[in-house]
Amino acid sequence: MARYTDAVCRLCRREAQKLFLKGDRCYTDKCAAERRAYPPGVHGQGRAKVSEYGTQLREKQKAKRYYGVLESQFRSYFEMANRKHGKTGENLLSILETRLDNTVYRLGFAMSRAEARQLVLHNHFTVNGKKVNIPSFLVKPGMTVALKDSSRKLDKFKSSIEANASRKAPKWLDYDAEGHAAKVVAEPVREDIDLPVEEQLIVELYSK
Ligand code: SF4
Repeated sequence: MARYTDAVCRLCRREAQKLFLKGDRCYTDKCAAERRAYPPGVHGQGRAKVSEYGTQLREKQKAKRYYGVLESQFRSYFEMANRKHGKTGENLLSILETRLDNTVYRLGFAMSRAEARQLVLHNHFTVNGKKVNIPSFLVKPGMTVALKDSSRKLDKFKSSIEANASRKAPKWLDYDAEGHAAKVVAEPVREDIDLPVEEQLIVELYSK
């Protein structure tokens, strides 16, 4: 499957926003978005006039990059969101939020969504007791996501669980710290999603 493999800090600089794509490093003074707070490339420090289309495009790119999703998949999430009742923009974020890699990240098993994606690919998680290694798998209310028994003793998980102990699981996940598992109790709603994305701009972009 196609995947973005270039330097991810460029993405934050392009969006003029920290997207927290590199885990620990994002919280240090090595963060490129802080050290070089201008867009990448030779014209990065020039003046840029942003059109309405440009603003909408940047908002869509930002959402894609937060969740590590490429265009075709993002577009199919949008179409899925459009078919659901309610506001398309909010539906879109709700769908993205229920990706298995994002769920693992939200539960504090990984320092970034990219790391969560790797952990899912490496078979560390189960859904309803069955091994699932598809990062784009969408969890639904009633499902239980758990760290595999054999993975619990790995130093990697001990340290990330410790480092993320103060991070609260979102309301749509009922986390059982002892069992290293969480039950999905609802679909995430906009207020559960703390990303600074103006989803309405994405809807306007795709509605042109
Ligand atoms: Fe973005 Fe993290 Fe790189 Fe900073 S360190 S630019 S937040 S990916």
